[in-house]
Amino acid sequence: MTRLGFLLDSDSCIGCHACTVACKSEHDVPLGVNRTWVKYIETGEFPNVSRHFSVMRCNHCDDAPCITICPTNALFRADNGVVDFDDGNCIGCKGCMNACPYDAIYINPATNTANKCNFCNHRIDQGLEPSCVVVCPTHAIKVADLDDPDDAATRIIARSDTAVRAPQQNTLPKVYYRGVDQASLDPLRTAIAGDGMIWADTTDRHPTVAPDSHGVVARTTYTTAHEMTWKAKVSSYLVTKAVAAGVMAVAALMVLLGHGGAQAAVGVVPPVVAGVFLAVTGILLVADLRQPRRFLYLITRANPRSWLVKGAAVLGAFAAVCAAWFVAGVVGSSGALAVLAAPAAVLAAATAGYTAFLFGQCEGRDLWQTPLLLPTLLAQASTAGGAAYAVAGLAMDGPDPVAVQWVLLAGVLGTAVLVVSEIMSRGTAHVEVAVAVMTRGRYARRFWAGGVGLGLVVPAVVVGAGLAADWGAGPAAVAGISAVVGMWFYEDCFVRAGQSVPLS
Ligand code: SF4
Repeated sequence: MTRLGFLLDSDSCIGCHACTVACKSEHDVPLGVNRTWVKYIETGEFPNVSRHFSVMRCNHCDDAPCITICPTNALFRADNGVVDFDDGNCIGCKGCMNACPYDAIYINPATNTANKCNFCNHRIDQGLEPSCVVVCPTHAIKVADLDDPDDAATRIIARSDTAVRAPQQNTLPKVYYRGVDQASLDPLRTAIAGDGMIWADTTDRHPTVAPDSHGVVARTTYTTAHEMTWKAKVSSYLVTKAVAAGVMAVAALMVLLGHGGAQAAVGVVPPVVAGVFLAVTGILLVADLRQPRRFLYLITRANPRSWLVKGAAVLGAFAAVCAAWFVAGVVGSSGALAVLAAPAAVLAAATAGYTAFLFGQCEGRDLWQTPLLLPTLLAQASTAGGAAYAVAGLAMDGPDPVAVQWVLLAGVLGTAVLVVSEIMSRGTAHVEVAVAVMTRGRYARRFWAGGVGLGLVVPAVVVGAGLAADWGAGPAAVAGISAVVGMWFYEDCFVRAGQSVPLS
């Protein structure tokens, strides 16, 4: 067997960027994105300073999270161990970009598909070396067959003190660095200084820790920019599916409490609301694809290990149960609703909660790995379901408006406990940076005013007081709207802060 990796010799590298340019030329890589680049860092104080180079690229991980999350098998393992890709299969979901802990993948603006270093496998097939290896003037880049103990580069790796990037991610990277300054491989230990970089402008696409952060030991003087991939559409999708799941969960609860005969409030309105919000969820998901016309590849070229595929199946099954519920509601069959109540409740929970597993496959985003995400999503669905019923209560008589307000209050209080637990917990260094960005940095205002104020404090106070003083439907509806708007702000902070931690 052949199992290819790279040996990158930082002692030999002179930082000439010939590898970057050769790669761009070989693969027609557009401006603004890179398959490989040379990062510069500087250590020490003037006049005793040193500059260190490290070549960045895909690590062709033995346990590659990008392959696992790719919903359409566009990323795959080649026979020689290389992680290769097929542009023709890519739907541009960008999941791989959040799964990779190394910033190795970019969206090619010319094709709107995910690209990265593929070891020049078309050249390997013809017995040639990758273009970066050929062009390097100091032999700082070597191909290693890691399964061949007699391979020259493999023997250097075996006997030298080599390092890999982010070994704690357990992806088993196959790019080995010799003679590298460790700070070069840990993006939390270097920062772009206030006066910027050499060779490149600093932009807001250069995620970096603050120069005075704890643990920073050097300055980054050259690196590349990386796009934040999941933004408002993903934050919005989390809310729209929470509403769809929540309203059906409350309807199922009503049936189980013996209100199956309430035709409009239990049998008809909830599946209509869920159907509308599920449709918006689907539109947001498809619109977020860089290749939206290929969305059916989720079925025709499905990777069953990907939670993007499993999530699509959950949403489809939930939509089918909602449709059956609507038919049962229209014909007034409380018996059919009783049969559907348990599957509707289970699929509502799955619809709300599967994103915890999808985000869990995004191994580059430590904030999203929290075990609190699943209960938070379920609590948010309770909030959203209670909110939807509270708003609908302005126009129709529900069977149990007080129970609805308790569902809303339980969701809000449960979410509050989980959010406080999340920001108080001690996680990895990446989690702590992300929580700081969310609560004290760039997203602090929308977190505290939107997520906490509108999403938690206002609805808790209004519903709590309303239940105590019997305020009725109007204040409960206002509280519900506030809770859902605030939920969007919280989700947006969580989604963006998770991606704000530099990975390279
Ligand atoms: Fe390459 Fe990143 Fe995939 Fe590892 S996870 S194989 S570094 S793209």
